[in-house]
Amino acid sequence: MMAKTHQAFAVFSVLVVSKYAPGSFDNIVLACGLSMFGALLPDLDSPQSSFGRLVPLLSKPLHSMLGHRTITHSLLAVILLYSVLTSSPQWHSWADAICIGYFSHIVGDMLIGTNGVALFWPLKQKISLNPLRMQVAGAGEYLVFNLLICAIVVQGLTHFYPSLDLMSRAGPIFNICVDLYTKTILPAFTSLTFKYSSLFNGL
Ligand SMILES: [Zn+2]
Repeated sequence: MMAKTHQAFAVFSVLVVSKYAPGSFDNIVLACGLSMFGALLPDLDSPQSSFGRLVPLLSKPLHSMLGHRTITHSLLAVILLYSVLTSSPQWHSWADAICIGYFSHIVGDMLIGTNGVALFWPLKQKISLNPLRMQVAGAGEYLVFNLLICAIVVQGLTHFYPSLDLMSRAGPIFNICVDLYTKTILPAFTSLTFKYSSLFNGL
């Protein structure tokens, strides 16, 4: 996925979480911004990425040692990041938004691009969920990006103006996609993260 698609997916994810778990974030606009930041972090392992170019002293050795879409694109990385953030008083309240952005990046890279991610690193097997074989920066990704922007507008308006009830007017297919993401993928991620981050916090 391109950086802007990752960021759009992160904002969309935060808005979806805030809809299904009201009160998750004290400040929804700040949470969206933090998720956009979190969505750039996994590409620390790519010196050519938006984030990797900012920190070449980290991205270049990481890429040469482990390659792209390995440890930084794994559940282990999400759990460690969540553990670190929640153990810090300054970062604790930002952990959810940043980690949702981080996690959405991993899901995005499984959905677009044919290489997949090493989700269960240190297992090297890369996992891809890309039945349409969409390429990074291809026509399919641009379509997804524009759909995400539309979805963000709908979700954002619904958040601030719930009486508009736009979600129920957006059509059954959109709602099915949102349901699938919010009722299966996100809960699985959050329960795994909460479960295993406590192990690392105990270290
Ligand atoms: Zn990536």
